[in-house]
Amino acid sequence: MTLDLSSKIRDVPDFPKEGIVFKDVMPLIADPEYFRETILRLAEWSRPREPHLILGAEARGFIFGAALAYELGAGFIAARKPGKLPWETVSATYELEYGTDSLEMHRDAVTAGARVIVLDDVLATGGTAKAKVELVEGLGGTVAGVLFVIELTFLHGRERLGGHDVHSLIQY
Ligand code: AMP
Repeated sequence: MTLDLSSKIRDVPDFPKEGIVFKDVMPLIADPEYFRETILRLAEWSRPREPHLILGAEARGFIFGAALAYELGAGFIAARKPGKLPWETVSATYELEYGTDSLEMHRDAVTAGARVIVLDDVLATGGTAKAKVELVEGLGGTVAGVLFVIELTFLHGRERLGGHDVHSLIQY
């Protein structure tokens, strides 16, 4: 039977502010069968792209990213909010659907020539993913793909990631 992953995504209207419909993945990751199927589908797309590393940003990107890296036999690297990482960092600022923010990565997280898949739970405006792509490329890595569980197609985030191989499992 083919699982309908979207049946485990909960719409939360007006979170974190009015007018935003938040796509809550907590029911998806709480269900063993659906969580596993999600990771297997992410891995199916990723495997032929032969990534050495999966990059995820806190917090939901850690959950999917670590599980995906494990399934692929790849490593996991983290992008975090400013001030959280202990070692020397590089930073990128981006605009969110609801505000602006920065992400940091360790300067030595990406070795030159490493193939990296940039992963997140939701593609909205694409600002976050674009910042992560810039961080990877700035450190001399190659973006092997940009991958999402959910894509909000009406925000056209994909267009900001032009030239990259972009994929999502669920589209709205
Ligand atoms: P963006 O940079 O606009 O593509 O926003 C993507 C980031 O914000 C992701 O890390 C998402 O987790 C989060 N995000 C933005 N919009 C939503 C939404 N409607 N529902 C859930 N998460 C969202």
